[in-house]
Amino acid sequence: MERTLSIIKPNATIDNNIGNIIKKFEDEGLRIAACKLTVLSKEKAEGFYIEHKERPFFGELVSFMTSGPVVIMALEGENAVDKNRQIMGATNPAEAAEGTLRKLYAKSIGENAVHGSDSLQSAEREINYFFDKNEVISRF
Ligand code: ATP
Ligand code: MG
Repeated sequence: MERTLSIIKPNATIDNNIGNIIKKFEDEGLRIAACKLTVLSKEKAEGFYIEHKERPFFGELVSFMTSGPVVIMALEGENAVDKNRQIMGATNPAEAAEGTLRKLYAKSIGENAVHGSDSLQSAEREINYFFDKNEVISRF
């Protein structure tokens, strides 16, 4: 059993696709262990994406992630980290497989609908970054 962090990004919340995205996670066997709707501050978004701070798209990334509401979730299930990445599809929606969340709901490589942790180690950091221990509720 693993936990992973998922973010439904502003383009998808603004397009009213929160329910469609959560339905897909649930249909694939992941459970919501924590969930909140919020608007990220610049500081919070910069800290979250700190590993990308030298990349040329960092400013654009932070400005997009703070441009509207996001839904932040801890998802749990068997193989949750990889399973979430498979459900999301490739970073660039032009390369995302049919039926993946990014194929369905991303607008571009920047406005790509969802975030998912890329390893168990980053999942732990990211869940602790957004949630207190008592806000994460195991459902297995
Ligand atoms: P995420 O971390 O959001 O789940 P990812 O792991 O698939 O996405 P990363 O390489 O970690 O991709 O990049 C983080 C985010 O930065 C991407 O989701 C995307 O929104 C943005 N990004 C990545 N590459 C570019 C780019 N070339 N131009 C603009 N934005 C980019
Ligand atoms: Mg990433």
